[in-house]
Amino acid sequence: MVRKKRGISRHTAVRLVLAAVVLAAALIYREAGNFPFGKSSGTLHAADSGGAAKGRDGASSDSAISGALSGQAQSGLPVRGSSQPMPFVGLPPAFPEGRAPGSRISRVPVSKAKTMPAATQKSAVPKNVYLTFDDGPSAVTPKVLEILRREQVKATFFVLGDQAETRPELINAIWEQGNVIGNHTYNHNYKDLYSGFTHFWSQIKKTEEIIRQITGVRPQLVRAPGGTYGHFDDTYFHLMKQAGYLATDWTVDSGDSARRGVPAAEILKNSVQGTQSSRVVLLLHDGAGHQASAKALPEIIKKYKAAGYVFKTLDASSEPVQFKAHPGKGAAKRTKPDEAWIAANITPKPPYLRQENRWQW
Ligand SMILES: [Zn+2]
Repeated sequence: MVRKKRGISRHTAVRLVLAAVVLAAALIYREAGNFPFGKSSGTLHAADSGGAAKGRDGASSDSAISGALSGQAQSGLPVRGSSQPMPFVGLPPAFPEGRAPGSRISRVPVSKAKTMPAATQKSAVPKNVYLTFDDGPSAVTPKVLEILRREQVKATFFVLGDQAETRPELINAIWEQGNVIGNHTYNHNYKDLYSGFTHFWSQIKKTEEIIRQITGVRPQLVRAPGGTYGHFDDTYFHLMKQAGYLATDWTVDSGDSARRGVPAAEILKNSVQGTQSSRVVLLLHDGAGHQASAKALPEIIKKYKAAGYVFKTLDASSEPVQFKAHPGKGAAKRTKPDEAWIAANITPKPPYLRQENRWQW
């Protein structure tokens, strides 16, 4: 720069000499450890670093950890755009380990951050499927149980009292395998069951007693034959609930009882139509003549497993699937139970008492 002009003015020369003298004096002071600006600038820097990060990102342990999770703080340095600490050139470190007091970011334990997998930051919505089998037990039930055992899946069986009475060993096998047993009335006869609540009730109690004698437990779960739609009226819903029962329908119908001889391929196709939903209650049958349902079962399980579903059994704490009350034409003719009958038969029970994963009272 001094070459810009040949020769310099006397005035400029004097200024240069003065500047050189001041610089020399400063260097002498610094060597003696008295230079004030070195330390203060280091302190200021550290404070800025922490403060700036805090101001911009609201830096706390959590946000620092989230930065660490994205790979920015593996070295323990500030995260997300905060300035890197300036090196203390020619000076002893102002603080051991190069950290300043109050610098919160540099204190984030990196080992802790490393133990938190990124996947926990955003967990997927769980998808549950409940396999339910109605109308058994029958000769089909052992095959269904064998498949469930092999696939390590549990299901809910809504059994009929008259079938349970003649095949107690199958009720026991269902139960011993860890499946859930629900009440599907005694004889499945719509005409009787839906002629009035007292008829429905007596079948529920009769079946319940048969099941209790085999398993020791009274089922709280009930499935109305044919579903509640077109069958249950407000009295049915209200009194069943008051007595502590949970009547539950389904979200997906396998169609295996739509007519006689529904082929396994059709049952499979119907059964997996709900694999977008987070909760599927699948209606199947293990009653007499439903071999095709058992045939379709391995592939149904395979498809739901592949779609990421967890297999669960119903319990009385689940939100029940209930079709909107539509009692049908015959409901108007029903005789409603009077108060004396209700007082004598329906003992109000706190709903959904839980005992060791089995539902009873
Ligand atoms: Zn049924």
